[in-house]
Amino acid sequence: MNNSCRNCGARIRGRIDKKFCDDSCRSAFHNQVNGEMTSVMRNTHRMLRRNWKILTRHFNRGEYVLDYDRIHQEGFNANLVTGYVLEESRIKYRCYEYTFELSPDGCVRFDKYNLKDYEVGE
Ligand SMILES: [Zn+2]
Repeated sequence: MNNSCRNCGARIRGRIDKKFCDDSCRSAFHNQVNGEMTSVMRNTHRMLRRNWKILTRHFNRGEYVLDYDRIHQEGFNANLVTGYVLEESRIKYRCYEYTFELSPDGCVRFDKYNLKDYEVGE
């Protein structure tokens, strides 16, 4: 276990799991790491990650057709996607390795794709 501050390298006193010597070192480190990300980008990433977690949880339960209101309540935001796929003249939206469709009946149907079939740029 490295017991030095990740920002300034100073030796850390106190709890063994501390990564920074104080709050100013913590925020300086995170500002540097995230410096090129705007708050809009951070929020977008966070929401995409939340969508992905929700889809993953349901996928692992074998639930591939979901009531939109229900997953919206869980925090799913269908406005944020990572891409789309055209399939038989239907648009499926992508959330990383998942695709989902919004049906007129208020359901979300989703599936998981092998990412290499849908490389970015194709
Ligand atoms: Zn420090």
